[in-house]
Amino acid sequence: MGRPAEVGAPRLAQRLLAWYDRHRRELPWRDSQDAYRVWVSEVMLQQTQVATVLSYYAPFLARFPDVAALAAASEDEVLGAWSGLGFYRRARNLHRGARFVVQTLEGQLPRTLEGWLALPGVGRYTAGAVSSIACGVRAPILDGNVGRVLSRLRGWREHPSESAAARRLWAEAEALLPQERVGDFNQALMELGATVCRPRQPTCERCPWRDACAARAAGDPHAFPAPRAAKAPPRVLRVALLLERPDGRWLMTRRPSDGLLASMWELPSRDAGGDDPARVAQRLARAWGTRRKLCPAGTAEHRFSHLEWHTRTFRVAVPADWSPAQEARWVREQDLTTLGVPTASRKALEAARAPEASSAQ
Ligand code: SF4
Repeated sequence: MGRPAEVGAPRLAQRLLAWYDRHRRELPWRDSQDAYRVWVSEVMLQQTQVATVLSYYAPFLARFPDVAALAAASEDEVLGAWSGLGFYRRARNLHRGARFVVQTLEGQLPRTLEGWLALPGVGRYTAGAVSSIACGVRAPILDGNVGRVLSRLRGWREHPSESAAARRLWAEAEALLPQERVGDFNQALMELGATVCRPRQPTCERCPWRDACAARAAGDPHAFPAPRAAKAPPRVLRVALLLERPDGRWLMTRRPSDGLLASMWELPSRDAGGDDPARVAQRLARAWGTRRKLCPAGTAEHRFSHLEWHTRTFRVAVPADWSPAQEARWVREQDLTTLGVPTASRKALEAARAPEASSAQ
């Protein structure tokens, strides 16, 4: 326990950049000045671990190598390439932004912070990250990693999600910006948060800011910022039907165009509320135009950031000439790579194909 050393912003930036030059991880989006590639990487990295993004980044760019290719793609193609990454609103916003660039900006990506902020779906974080990294604009960034590092450096306990705390952190992120290498500085801040100043057990002895850090001086760096009160997410019971034809195709339908997993594909499904899932499944099957026998199959669990789905699945064998009463598509295995099928839907599909239990009726 002691007092942190007083170190000015230029010296802090210099130390952080020197640390970054020595210790940064080699990642495929680093060192790229191509604003489109930086944009894609920054959108993918929001709320997703680097290790996960690594398996999506190159295939996505191979499929949509530039902003024109992304703008020309259908939403289904974009969501298909994003399937499994989660937070699909990000993919939709990226797609909308690409179309805006092609239709309104003659295909030229912005070079200023204001230009990036004008794109639909681009917020302050993404605009700051892309404009600083790709265009050298002196713009700050604030994400979860940066918020934690700066809260600890300054000894601020308020959680960054509080609006007053966020305002103070944005101002601090701006005050620390160096005159040069702004993009590297922003990436270095994120890197420090991801690899050294981690949520639990920060390795302060490896930190270039250790002598200046108020949280370290207080003796309990992991206690900064204070954790948000955790609430258990609500659990929603659902049923899903695997309506199968003799040729092995099954029925999938699009979700509504707004709300959770908007416009993405899933098995015919509905929330069960407090009802018996088998009875809800029978009503759902009738709504789809069949009274054939339902066979209970597996159960899928999926956790979103704000709620959990617990999905009971049922198989229904339908004849080759049967037509559903609602709009849907007959799907084969190979179609799953080109449709936007989120992880929650894939889990339900896998559960429905699990070995059958006993008959429901
Ligand atoms: S000294 Fe420790 S707590 Fe402070 S910024 Fe560095 S890693 Fe984080």
